[in-house]
Amino acid sequence: MSQLDVRQKLAILADAAKYDASCASSGTKARDSRGGTGMGSTAPGMGICHAYAPDGRCISLLKILLTNSCIFDCHYCINRKSSNVRRARFTAREVVDLTLAFYRRNYIEGLFLSSGIIRSSNYTMEQIVEVARSLREDHDFRGYIHLKTIPDADPELVHQAGVHADRVSINVELPTRAGLSRLAPEKSAERIEGAMKGMKAAILDGADAKARYKCAPEFAPAGQSTQMIVGADAATDSAIVQRAAGLYDRFGLRRVYYSAFSPIPDASAVLPLVRPPLMREHRLYQADWMIRFYGFSSAEVAESADGSGNLPLDIDPKLAWALKHRETFPVDVNRAPRELLLRIPGLGVRAVDRILAARVHRRLRLADLARLTRSLARLRPFLIAADWRPTLLADRLDPRPKTEQLELFAA
Ligand code: SF4
Repeated sequence: MSQLDVRQKLAILADAAKYDASCASSGTKARDSRGGTGMGSTAPGMGICHAYAPDGRCISLLKILLTNSCIFDCHYCINRKSSNVRRARFTAREVVDLTLAFYRRNYIEGLFLSSGIIRSSNYTMEQIVEVARSLREDHDFRGYIHLKTIPDADPELVHQAGVHADRVSINVELPTRAGLSRLAPEKSAERIEGAMKGMKAAILDGADAKARYKCAPEFAPAGQSTQMIVGADAATDSAIVQRAAGLYDRFGLRRVYYSAFSPIPDASAVLPLVRPPLMREHRLYQADWMIRFYGFSSAEVAESADGSGNLPLDIDPKLAWALKHRETFPVDVNRAPRELLLRIPGLGVRAVDRILAARVHRRLRLADLARLTRSLARLRPFLIAADWRPTLLADRLDPRPKTEQLELFAA
């Protein structure tokens, strides 16, 4: 590896980190002010991205890899051993110094650190933990830290990640075990799930200790999350949603991130040639939202899918579910329980809570709903208000243009 300065490493390792989900800004258009025109720059990115804290705040993170060299050869990964990309590696000290420098300049509020596997899983995990330890203990860093852990590493090292980080991620990588053994043969679904299970137990223990003793140290207070690559194997959206629901139930995850597979240079022949539509990733996030906030089971979300098991791309899955369950609608906003209000397409949690609070005082009319929600036009066919009953029967309503989801594995 040629000698690179920190800036060059940052350019390589921030770019390599863009494949890790949880970032809202990595796909932005490149703009800069070279030539003295305009102000500000989005190019070359250099690792600052945005994530959302558990309380909903948007926070800027320095998002980088410790290294993009890896001894593993996962087919879908640009950093795999056989990939022909330019490599770079930070030392733990360099990451600490960069984080502090960015923090002091008020560029960031925290660090998101992931890594390829350097010599061994344990060695890599030691380096990742050392960054977080040094930030917390040597520099009393109070910013947000999100660490991607390596499930093959010694459980004590994975545990140490939770001691220092706000959030830890353990990636399941692919929705099915078959997909994982085909595309990431060096990884083991059992080890990944074992690490998640251990992390869940440690997080619960930490929360319990904190509840009993004020002085108890925090352990991964923002919980654990995972990431699934979508479209690299043939798993359907129904299978993906079912897998995600199982992970939420079993391991108490805060988030499952979906990352649409993107074709990479020198791609392996076992991968599809085309990327899945980005809208697919968006629909999966909406389906995920249905499970986490709207009270749908994964089986109900699967009912939104078409015959191939995939969610429609042209309408959101909550609307797709409503169109398949026309007998549920219209829902009376002045009488229906919260669970039923949450099933109305276009009505979110906040709007439902506002409706429940407002209807204590009076019977709600359409004009009231217009003040409490943003999308009344979409809602009208699905609800009854004091002065409104839809005349267009829900069974005549089908807002979908006829389009088809792309075939990922077409010849
Ligand atoms: S272990 Fe991680 S970095 Fe290495 S090839 Fe697999 S996905 Fe890529």
